[in-house]
Amino acid sequence: MNYNQNNIFAKILRKEIPCQKIFENDYVLSFYDINPQKKIHALVIPKGNYINLDDFNNRASDREIIALCKGITEVSKILGISTDKGKGYRALTNLDEHGGQEVQHLHFHIFGGEKIGRMVE
Ligand code: AMP
Repeated sequence: MNYNQNNIFAKILRKEIPCQKIFENDYVLSFYDINPQKKIHALVIPKGNYINLDDFNNRASDREIIALCKGITEVSKILGISTDKGKGYRALTNLDEHGGQEVQHLHFHIFGGEKIGRMVE
């Protein structure tokens, strides 16, 4: 599968559509999910064109991988849900058809602000 430049997160990265930004640096953008599933529901995405976590780990530089990983913790601190400042959260990413991925640009969901509940329905 090739990366589709017309996916919604690519449009957000190109600033063609707006987002409710939480955090940004050279490698990562974080914004609130438009359809929150929990009290706090944020997304963390790499700025590079990667379809999913496997694609990212296969092609991204170590610097990009470290930045995304650290970006998740950075966002959790900003949101007050990190393990040092808050009560914790769930970070998850869906991959492809069986994972239930809808947007074909790698994103981590950050759920928090309340107990998240069962891991899999
Ligand atoms: P997934 O099913 O893992 O691909 O999740 C895609 C997520 O993107 C869903 O939770 C959507 O609510 C969210 N989403 C779709 N469009 C937007 C948007 N324009 N801004 C923020 N979140 C979005």
